[in-house]
Amino acid sequence: MIQLIKGFKDILPDEIVLWQYIEDTARALFEDFGFREIRLPIVEKSELFSKSIGDTTDIVEKEMYTFEDGKRGNVTLRPEATASVVRSYIQHKMYAEEPVRKLYTIGPMFRRERPQKGRYRQFYQIDAEVFGTASPYMDAQIIFMLVSLFNKLAVQNVSAHINSLGCPVCRPDFQKALFSLLESQKDHLCENCLRRSEKNPLRTLDCKVPSCRNALKDAPSILDFLCGDCQSHFNTVKDLLTRQNIPFDIDKNLVRGLDYYTRTAFEILTTSLGAQNAVAGGGRYDGLVEALGGPSQPAIGFAIGFDRLAEIMAQNRTLPPKNPKIYIAALGDTCRNLAWGWASDLCLDGVQTEMDFEERSLKSHMKRADKFHADFVLILGDNERENGHALFRNMESKEQISVPLDDLVPQLIKIIG
Ligand code: ATP
Ligand code: MG
Repeated sequence: MIQLIKGFKDILPDEIVLWQYIEDTARALFEDFGFREIRLPIVEKSELFSKSIGDTTDIVEKEMYTFEDGKRGNVTLRPEATASVVRSYIQHKMYAEEPVRKLYTIGPMFRRERPQKGRYRQFYQIDAEVFGTASPYMDAQIIFMLVSLFNKLAVQNVSAHINSLGCPVCRPDFQKALFSLLESQKDHLCENCLRRSEKNPLRTLDCKVPSCRNALKDAPSILDFLCGDCQSHFNTVKDLLTRQNIPFDIDKNLVRGLDYYTRTAFEILTTSLGAQNAVAGGGRYDGLVEALGGPSQPAIGFAIGFDRLAEIMAQNRTLPPKNPKIYIAALGDTCRNLAWGWASDLCLDGVQTEMDFEERSLKSHMKRADKFHADFVLILGDNERENGHALFRNMESKEQISVPLDDLVPQLIKIIG
């Protein structure tokens, strides 16, 4: 038997109920905040990711599914959505008519990571991005929207962590300070951090190796190095969140896994998933649109780890599956033939109707109706048919009424309300 590949997974109908609920809730909320959906290809030119995510990141260094596609050169299964959204924003000159664009997209991402709980090679993200505004009001609004989604979904044990990564004006001073600490701690750093400490020292703050964490525990805080503009930007974001009663922690070591962030960076962390504790992450990336060949347009966005969110939610709730409203038990060929039309019309009218086309006894039909958890059962045997009636049974109250066959479908719809 051929099995799926490790790190990939099927999301089965029983789980999908929760996934759809999450997705519907996110869509409705985002649309109320003025976001519009965008659907993008799963495969892009590799350079889109190496240029945007950064050559010294885990993703680009070792996690991308890249292959050669003839004349097209190297292409990659997208490891995240932001780069593609930016590409699309630039390619379709979305900025020309109205630079401020709020976009969201939902779909699979691919990273060749070590598979474990909460970490897959194909996983899903709910991604939102805003272009064209540098205002801290937007940062606060986006974090507010993200936290509100978790509240609407009644997810517990999550907290918002925020930091500022500064800008090209103030970050170099911090990088220098961090670099001298890294130099002094050389013996305690992992290979990755050693290699990155020169090119991109910030990345080391994100390292999960315990010895690196320990070596960096007295690392300087970027917040002490912010320039006046970055400082006041960050203060506004904090003030606005406080005013909207959004609790948050300031985490000076929060740098995020990608290179393109500036100023506000944030994550939603959970205590319910063990080591994989980030359910969402995002931040401002004011330089990326221009770096990818577009006009200078500031931007901010986030991505929610859909799989992890669904896993947390599944821990303390099950959503009822979508059961049929009506089960039709038609006995014998003639009745089955008649009832088949009703079943089709009921489905079309939005009444989920299940009909078993096999010949079976009434008792066996009733057993199946129970198994399906149908609310009602419509029973039609030759006796009923000859009398011009069908029986309609409420499975909860056990009440059974007789319904005339003429105009049966509209009558049933009326009865079930
Ligand atoms: P982590 O630190 O857990 O590796 P990350 O910083 O690499 O996360 P992002 O690139 O910020 O993750 O992606 C946003 C969210 O997507 C994460 O917070 C997480 O919930 C989810 N995510 C990232 N990688 C995976 C994966 N391999 N499997 C499942 N979910 C993932
Ligand atoms: Mg990662």
